[in-house]
Amino acid sequence: MPALMALRKRSLDEKPLAGAKVVGCIHITAQTAVLMETLSALGAQCRWAACNIHSTQNEVAAALAEGGFSVFAWKGESEDDFWWCIDRCVDPEGWQPNMILDDGGDLTHWIYKKYPDVFNNVKGIIEESVTGVHRLYQLSKAGKLCVPAMNVSDSVTKQRFDNLYCCRESILDGLKRTTDVMFGGKRVVVCGYGEVGKGCCAVLKAMGAVVYVTEIDPICALQACMDGFPTVTLSEVVRQVDIVITCTGNKNVVARDHLDRMKSGCIVCNMGHSNTEIDVDSLRSPELTWERVRSHVDHVIWPDGKRIVLLAEGRLLNLSCSAVPTFVTSISTTTLALALMELHNAPEGRYKQDVYLLPKKMDEYVASLHLSAFDAHLTELTDEQAKYLGLNRNGPFKPNYYRY
Ligand code: NAD
Repeated sequence: MPALMALRKRSLDEKPLAGAKVVGCIHITAQTAVLMETLSALGAQCRWAACNIHSTQNEVAAALAEGGFSVFAWKGESEDDFWWCIDRCVDPEGWQPNMILDDGGDLTHWIYKKYPDVFNNVKGIIEESVTGVHRLYQLSKAGKLCVPAMNVSDSVTKQRFDNLYCCRESILDGLKRTTDVMFGGKRVVVCGYGEVGKGCCAVLKAMGAVVYVTEIDPICALQACMDGFPTVTLSEVVRQVDIVITCTGNKNVVARDHLDRMKSGCIVCNMGHSNTEIDVDSLRSPELTWERVRSHVDHVIWPDGKRIVLLAEGRLLNLSCSAVPTFVTSISTTTLALALMELHNAPEGRYKQDVYLLPKKMDEYVASLHLSAFDAHLTELTDEQAKYLGLNRNGPFKPNYYRY
């Protein structure tokens, strides 16, 4: 994680997070541990819970606890455990957070519901996921957002790298580890052609699968068509496909009616943040039998013997069942660290009670810290070229509205 290491070197001279008390709710993995140690080296105190009941690496949580971090998480929490852990993070005696780092908005939601006074001390919220950002914009629209919030999900260094490149690699890992499926010639439908969907489709196509896409947005649907993916409704293909993957950030995209029509052996999984994309609850009905065949793999069996293979009970596949590439996590966690520094150190009045994007210059800085890993050499603008394009020679090189 080269950029976090670069930030740590910086911390030898300065402590840009001195005084920051960060309560965090993100996946507790080895990469998060490196982030927490870095935040601590930069001067912050941290308390942490997991944003997903399956994704905690127990050995990492234990090592962090041994290293003096307050961590409340373990793999396989129940729903009640999940909220208990979050509650322990924000309701400790004598420790009040002043920064929130969230992935999915559950921590923020819990503080709003149970401890609204905590916001009197909070300088800002950093939100990492599409789903959590959506919730923040809803709060802002309703006039209920009471502190500044940084939408890191839409930072280029998060969205293009974590959502696209990370999922492009980890979808295969998650499917292989759980099912050993061979991809060549398989029919796959990917629901949602955003960044995550694009990554999944690209790699499955490269493996020789026949990939279909479903979309609600005509622009993303047109992109899928131009990339060579037949764009269909789920109902049109649900009887033929071997694998169904959801990545919409939406709910009930795969409904019981679809599940009833799938062929026997169909693998069903989700790459979106929440476990709401597949209507798993509808499968917990008396006529269907569940058989746990191995960790994170359930066969759901219909009365006629048909079975579907449900992975991670409809929770995020890659973070529940496989590893995610560390290099790409380095990019997104560095973006989180810089967002924390920006909100913590911003002069009074720079950020109001609204949702903001990270300044483009910081995105460029995060990317530049990772280029040396590829021995990549940037071309420098000449004065004449900079003048011609109306840019500062040192960036930012693109306007905020630029789409990468
Ligand atoms: P996105 O908004 O770019 O893409 C989602 C797409 O789904 C959109 O194009 C939208 O039009 C489409 N969609 C919405 N409802 C639909 C429906 N009913 N049927 C078909 N398409 C529908 O978001 P993204 O960056 O691709 O992220 C998607 C989800 O994945 C989010 O929940 C995000 O938090 C999560 N995510 C997961 C990982 C991971 O490692 N698994 C990484 C990043 C993000």
